[in-house]
Amino acid sequence: MSMRRTKIICTLGPASMHTGVMSGLIEAGMNIARLNCSHVKNTAELELPVDNLRRIARMSGKPVGTLLDLGGPKIRSGYLVDGTMQLVNGAKLRIVPGDAEGRDDWITCSHDGLADDLKVGQRVLIDDGLMELIVTDITGDRVVHTEVVVGGLLKTRKGMNLPDCQVSLPALTDKDKRDLAGAVDLGVDYVALSFVQSAQDIIDLKDEMAKLRMRAPIIAKIEKPQAVDNLDSILDEVDGIMVARGDLAVEVGNYKVPILQKEMLGKSNRRGVLDIVATQMLESMTSNPRPTRAEASDVANAVLDGCDAVMLSGETAAGNYPIEAVKVMDRICREVEPWMEWTEHLRIEDPDAPPITVAIVKAAASIARQGDYKAIIVFTLSGRTAQLLAGTFARTTIFAMTPQPQTVRKMCLYRGVVPVHMPFPANSDAMIAQAEQVLVDKGYLSAGDEAVVVAGFTKLKGVANMVKVVRIGG
Ligand code: PEP
Repeated sequence: MSMRRTKIICTLGPASMHTGVMSGLIEAGMNIARLNCSHVKNTAELELPVDNLRRIARMSGKPVGTLLDLGGPKIRSGYLVDGTMQLVNGAKLRIVPGDAEGRDDWITCSHDGLADDLKVGQRVLIDDGLMELIVTDITGDRVVHTEVVVGGLLKTRKGMNLPDCQVSLPALTDKDKRDLAGAVDLGVDYVALSFVQSAQDIIDLKDEMAKLRMRAPIIAKIEKPQAVDNLDSILDEVDGIMVARGDLAVEVGNYKVPILQKEMLGKSNRRGVLDIVATQMLESMTSNPRPTRAEASDVANAVLDGCDAVMLSGETAAGNYPIEAVKVMDRICREVEPWMEWTEHLRIEDPDAPPITVAIVKAAASIARQGDYKAIIVFTLSGRTAQLLAGTFARTTIFAMTPQPQTVRKMCLYRGVVPVHMPFPANSDAMIAQAEQVLVDKGYLSAGDEAVVVAGFTKLKGVANMVKVVRIGG
């Protein structure tokens, strides 16, 4: 079977912290490890797992990147005197300020500004949308009066979603700032921000990272309807988006998510922005060794939508079959990819990409499409040319050679790109000869194979100015 092009992200958690499991995940095909800050008290808890991950990846010769997922302003219901409370359809429920333990017909909530944000008629969803309240009044004492539309058993500290209003909480919370500061020394390869509502949230994250002198590409998690509305301006600011279908489905309704996924991936692909499809992809594998037919189709559909990566959450973080889940995902991607309609996205709309690089990248993709080329070989320092090449949906595997270890890890997310670490010799002929040798030694190419080479032999940073066809071994 051919090399897998779609990348696999695994969320690390109790089920995957053991070095044996990590090693199994890497062997099975994990490309990026997601470090979920929502589930750690502080980033010091991530130091050992990240060290272990990098050590195992080095030993296996398979690079793995890391994605730090900042928890963001998740709103939660307060504690309850009895631990649970039955919400009955049609009953009145007050949400009062403060952090007292709720009882009878009132609860508290972690968001102090609830009474300012909500309006009469708007919804409050609780526990993954299982329960629904509608606001009937907001009184001067900052109490939100509601009626229970869909009841259920409310437990302590359940997630609350306010889909109908702009939430006044900043996307970057104090805990996020602490997690970010703690992550500087971890050297993470991506930073994801939860509950983004507007481009300003990303600008705020960039400012915070600049204060910390931290450089990493940013992924906006699209899980609020406001982010869907503001997608174009968000795409201007980010390196990637995650279709975070868990909260998104709660906020907009499950039935809207499939088309939103297609629309978002269509836009991000045209813009040359990375994209990830996340949540419940193989959910049943948390407890079963085989996925459902519907899950297999869901992963296949995300691949056909042209995403860079598919993500596993609870399956690898807390499930009973983390390694099997990666194997299943790997298999589905490989089966589906040859059936993709390889429409070339030669309409690269990235306003920041140098026009000459775009022209060279398009030329390389066209050449590769016309002949029996075994590889596109690209030399890159920042990874940008490799990312643009990935955006052309070229059928040919893209081997991205770089002397920078951080670029190797970053490129683990790029669809169709195999990152390869290689010091760059001073002259172009030596560079190409060395890349050929490295790729033959690794078993990717054989003498006589033809490849398209893309490089930037110019003093201008980030500019590719050469495309050339080579035969491996002369
Ligand atoms: C989601 O809501 O789909 C998601 C990926 O976010 P989290 O796992 O942080 O809730």
